[in-house]
Amino acid sequence: MIENNVSKSIGIIGGGMGSISAAIYLIKNGFEVTIYEKNKTLGGRANIIENDGFRFDMGPSLLNYPWVFEELFKTLGENLNAHLDLIKIETGVKFLWDDKETFSVTSDYPNLSKEVSRLENSNINGLQSFLKINSIRYKTAFEKLLNTNLDNPLTWGSRLGLKELISGSMFKSMYSDLNKHFKSKYIKEAFGSYAMYLGGSPFKIPGFFSILPYGEIAYGLWMPKGGIYSLIEKLEELLIKNNVTIKKSNEISEIVINEKREVKGLINTNGDFYDHKFVISNADLATTHEKLINSAYSQNFEGTQMTPSVMTFYWGIKKETKFPHHMIFLPKNYKSSFEDLFYNKKFPKGMPFYTSSPSTSDNSLSPKGKSTMFVLVPLPVTEKSDQKNIYSNDIKKIKDKVFEKFNHHNIDLNEKDIEFEKVLTPDEWKTKFALYKTSAFGSSHNLFNIGPFRDANKSKNIRGLYFVGASTNPGTGLPMVTLGGKLVSERIMHDIS
Ligand SMILES: Cc1cc2nc3c(=O)[nH]c(=O)nc-3n(C[C@H](O)[C@H](O)[C@H](O)COP(=O)(O)OP(=O)(O)OC[C@H]3O[C@@H](n4cnc5c(N)ncnc54)[C@H](O)[C@@H]3O)c2cc1C
Repeated sequence: MIENNVSKSIGIIGGGMGSISAAIYLIKNGFEVTIYEKNKTLGGRANIIENDGFRFDMGPSLLNYPWVFEELFKTLGENLNAHLDLIKIETGVKFLWDDKETFSVTSDYPNLSKEVSRLENSNINGLQSFLKINSIRYKTAFEKLLNTNLDNPLTWGSRLGLKELISGSMFKSMYSDLNKHFKSKYIKEAFGSYAMYLGGSPFKIPGFFSILPYGEIAYGLWMPKGGIYSLIEKLEELLIKNNVTIKKSNEISEIVINEKREVKGLINTNGDFYDHKFVISNADLATTHEKLINSAYSQNFEGTQMTPSVMTFYWGIKKETKFPHHMIFLPKNYKSSFEDLFYNKKFPKGMPFYTSSPSTSDNSLSPKGKSTMFVLVPLPVTEKSDQKNIYSNDIKKIKDKVFEKFNHHNIDLNEKDIEFEKVLTPDEWKTKFALYKTSAFGSSHNLFNIGPFRDANKSKNIRGLYFVGASTNPGTGLPMVTLGGKLVSERIMHDIS
């Protein structure tokens, strides 16, 4: 079977956020877009679990930089606020340590200063210098580095700026960058913990990434009413309205490439052929190379450092709880738990973990008088892509440790309070979304894997093949892959002009 008119037709493998964004920017430029998604729903890792009135976001639980999504709606002539009610999570994130110290990071400046002053011997100079330097970096990142396809390290370096290069924030670690501003180990550990999502230890990830905690403080944390998946639902409606063809439960098994190294189309697992001169793969980059491209042309990702895998729990709770919306539990052996996670590939000592209680901010997510909780435990990835993740067997051990920690912090939640439970192991995440080595967030953002050093959104050796999503540029997280969708569409327009 042959489908589609090749002229301006683009096939996108996968329907994650990067794909949705690329589709929107491309249809505005006159392309015909078809999305092929192996699952029954769009959204990729930003997916949904529903049961008896409980509604859980499967992956992302917090939204930052809402203007990135506003721009996406605007591209289609729509207003995000007419479609979604964005709730600001005023309480931010509460960090908790085993010695019972806590630190609440919020975008409410008076409250944040009080918290910092309490931990910094009544001094907030460090907070001010941290905010000042990172506001400059943040502007540089969004105005000069993330908004355009930059392949040349020299152009990238010059856009980063001499001052930043001299300050060495790309070459020094996040922890040493934080050390310049803060004395309190609690503040440094809390802000440094953002490195986990970037796929490395705060003692190794570049200091420039202090813009992550800065971004949350300066611009807040958000959630659409109805949860993050409401964003995907609205965008899917708009894709359909704008004539994007969406083929769900349609798994692509091969990107067809001719002997001249040009893309000819796609084949799915039923053997159907789809004729496309341009293909974007939103399947994880390493998986795309390993499974969908003829090995004669594909790249090897064995040596690429990956972000961790995760075990996630979704609990429908019998009673109404009002826990802080976001909590992060950090261990006393902070440094070694990062080393275990990323470099020793061992169960991290002290087991840091994250909880989200979205029904605290939006009671439509659970039946009346009940509530929801999501728990995310980062775990090591596998050494090889075809191995099983041994930590997938540790559901009981991990769950017991979560409740031990709750008990330690007098958090009033027991196993008997749980009415509904779903668990996703690292291997289940891998199978559902074709994730390489069970990595939850894609390839890491170490110095050798950012900007022009990160794998580009265009194939080096196959004409017509492009990439979008967490493992390519600019990086992981919903705002970044959304920007990535815009970048890949610009790349294609540039190539055909
Ligand atoms: C547990 C968890 C929590 C997270 N929390 C946050 C958060 O709070 N905030 C945030 O901003 N980000 C968060 N992230 C990161 C964010 O979810 C991802 O960076 C982002 O969703 C990745 O989007 P993507 O475009 O790479 O596509 P993906 O989500 O990877 O989607 C790719 C799609 O391709 C499909 N596919 C793969 N292979 C094929 C094939 N052969 N044929 C057809 N379809 C195929 C997959 O099924 C999938 O639907 C979280 C991620 C996880 C896992």
